[in-house]
Amino acid sequence: MPATATFPIFDALSLRREFPILNQQINGKPLAFLDSAASSQKPRRVIDCLEDYYRRYNANVHRGIYKLSEEATFAYERARGKVAKFIGAASPREVIFTRNTTEAINLVANAWGGANIRAGDRILLTVMEHHSNIVPWQMLAQRTGAKLDYIGIDGQGRLVLDDLDRLLTERTKIVALTHQSNVLGTINPVRLIAERAHACGALVLLDAAQSVPHMAVNVAELDADFLAFSGHKMCGPTGIGALWGRRNILEAMPPFLGGGSMINLVELEQSTYADVPSRFEAGTPAIGEAIALGETVDFLNSVGMETIYHHEHELLCYALDRLLVVPGLIIHGPNTLEERGATIAFSLEGVHPHDVAAVLDSEGIAVRAGHHCAQPLHRILDVPATTRASFYLYNIPEEADRLAVGLEKVRKLFA
Ligand code: PMP
Repeated sequence: MPATATFPIFDALSLRREFPILNQQINGKPLAFLDSAASSQKPRRVIDCLEDYYRRYNANVHRGIYKLSEEATFAYERARGKVAKFIGAASPREVIFTRNTTEAINLVANAWGGANIRAGDRILLTVMEHHSNIVPWQMLAQRTGAKLDYIGIDGQGRLVLDDLDRLLTERTKIVALTHQSNVLGTINPVRLIAERAHACGALVLLDAAQSVPHMAVNVAELDADFLAFSGHKMCGPTGIGALWGRRNILEAMPPFLGGGSMINLVELEQSTYADVPSRFEAGTPAIGEAIALGETVDFLNSVGMETIYHHEHELLCYALDRLLVVPGLIIHGPNTLEERGATIAFSLEGVHPHDVAAVLDSEGIAVRAGHHCAQPLHRILDVPATTRASFYLYNIPEEADRLAVGLEKVRKLFA
């Protein structure tokens, strides 16, 4: 296994050296990568771990009675254990490897939804959801005749909890919401929402794509029933993510995809299915990527999720101070800092977000412009698109300075 580096005292500059990609010039300027909300960069040890698997013990899991397959199976299942511990799951059996958050939510909407949702049932979402936590529920509603309800937001991009009380009824079967908005940065009061949902008999699914990478997440403390997240947003590889679910709920669910590895016995007319989690992992999984996700968890733990959260919070405060003085800049999302993460979506008066991003790119600053897969939210914000700068553990205050200076340049160019 590759050597591991630890960071007992957080030092973003040393930590940056662990991310080879950050050490490069873009358009003649040092890269300032401010798009981790879309996909994060990978530390050397995660890249090494993936390479080590392919170079040394690549083999299919759970089948081969030979050394390489046993080694791959051991590492794959050990990674499941690491992921389970990382999110406070009661058992590794509660963790299903998926391709990403999107697949995890589709798994629930299809397998749980197909078995439990009937015509007239209600599914409660919020207007700040990513498309991946809207479209699977729309598809389920269309198939079953269920109805979707949406919790709205206030002027600062916080959920209107009165909507929750108004819309939550005994017909509501599931509340599916994002833990942290990928646009507004809002951190939602998910524990309180889970308490109210459970009091009504509804389950709670958390889209944790933007929270698991950035803060300590413990499923028992949050009192959720399902949690979905992606490896690539938390310094891990693409092609691997996870669904956590309460064991009794998972065990009662029928499969999502059918095929190899998810069965007990196959006959010509019918089959019986494997136990959880294999029941939900049909076909050959992303073995190396899952193992590297386990390594990613070790990496994040070596820095410390509390430390990461505090570093990002300091960056958020610093960046907002620098950005708030840029004339014509409107920042979307809460101005109460404890209610938000370090994802800053903004509009610059009179300039299209794509132009903002293109000028910043010429300065070596990578930000995202568009609807960030949240079209309903942008409709409410009354803008077709926003520019988004998102900070992570490897970002430093100088990059917020460069962002502010870059925005001044944009203003001058488009004045
Ligand atoms: N939910 C949220 C809040 C996200 O930010 C994203 C990624 N932008 C997703 C879901 C979807 O993640 P993935 O594309 O990895 O499935």
